[in-house]
Amino acid sequence: MLEKRLLKLRQKLQERGIEALLISHPVNRRYLTGFTGSAGVVLITATEQLLVTDFRYVIQVQEQAPHMTLVQHQGAIYHTVGEQCRKLGIKALSFEQDHLTFAEFLQLKEAVGDIKLQPTSGIVKELRMVKDADELAVMREAARIADQAFSKILSDIKPGVRENEISFKLEFYMRELGATSSSFDMIVASGKRSALPHGVASDKVLELGDLVTLDFGALYQGYASDITRTVMLGRPSEKQKEIYDIVWEACNRTIAALRPGMTGKEADAVARDYISAHGYGDFFGHSTGHGLGMEVHELPMLSSRGDVVLQPNMVVTVEPGIYLPEVGGVRIEDDVVITETGCEALNQSSKDWIVIE
Ligand code: ZN
Ligand code: ZN
Repeated sequence: MLEKRLLKLRQKLQERGIEALLISHPVNRRYLTGFTGSAGVVLITATEQLLVTDFRYVIQVQEQAPHMTLVQHQGAIYHTVGEQCRKLGIKALSFEQDHLTFAEFLQLKEAVGDIKLQPTSGIVKELRMVKDADELAVMREAARIADQAFSKILSDIKPGVRENEISFKLEFYMRELGATSSSFDMIVASGKRSALPHGVASDKVLELGDLVTLDFGALYQGYASDITRTVMLGRPSEKQKEIYDIVWEACNRTIAALRPGMTGKEADAVARDYISAHGYGDFFGHSTGHGLGMEVHELPMLSSRGDVVLQPNMVVTVEPGIYLPEVGGVRIEDDVVITETGCEALNQSSKDWIVIE
């Protein structure tokens, strides 16, 4: 699989007329090499594939990335990169403009001397949009961990419990089930706070009458899941039930509509139009979904600016929501993989209305 990823990258470099690419983003480095260490850069040309790192990782690279040529640097890493570029006769070196600090750029510039530096953006990210079979297997497991943790946390949701106790327990359950960690700073937002789309867990106590939004995911073998469920604590009001039903329908309609050939913008419109038709368009202020993989927010975006055409094996979230300042908010989020004919959910937790009394 890793060899295949490198092959695809080389095709892309050739299409763009790129002679050599320096990869400094740790996630992209792991994607191409399998190396999970915390330091190092990758240099790819049409014929060479170097992994430059320090002595701490020599054995790890040999184990995890035997397909890479290991170059150990003693002094500054970019000094060694410069040496290797000269040795390979590289005339123009492309680098990841989004993943190099200004200080690193200056070091690189000095180290490469006459070699021309060319900024690039998104090359490996675009490759990462379409998942291979190994990635999908890992992502299914990341989603399964989130599902199981969700079913366990339901018995902990009761009046008097603080939001951050819930987030702590969810994290504990996910780790117990095999996750490395949470895939992001999870959201536990109850009552009026549930109207905050990104309300990370606070010390607010859960009360009867609260909508409780849990937006969380597991990081498993380098891949993230990201699901949201909103549950009702106590008897729901008419308004709470109404917005839940609209969000539920918007989520299901979008999942039913997703298929290859559709743009992210068209997918976004399915949820947005439905919510707007019910008068809540102004209360759905974020995009319908985003790509998911080694990072929680990847390409493609399901948003009004999403111009990427969906392809089989892309993984995206579908997460419409309605947030009413005095009533609370509802968001429902699933992770789905685009298939040849539509899409398939990676997580299985029921989206039906859950009332905890
Ligand atoms: Zn989420
Ligand atoms: Zn999300």
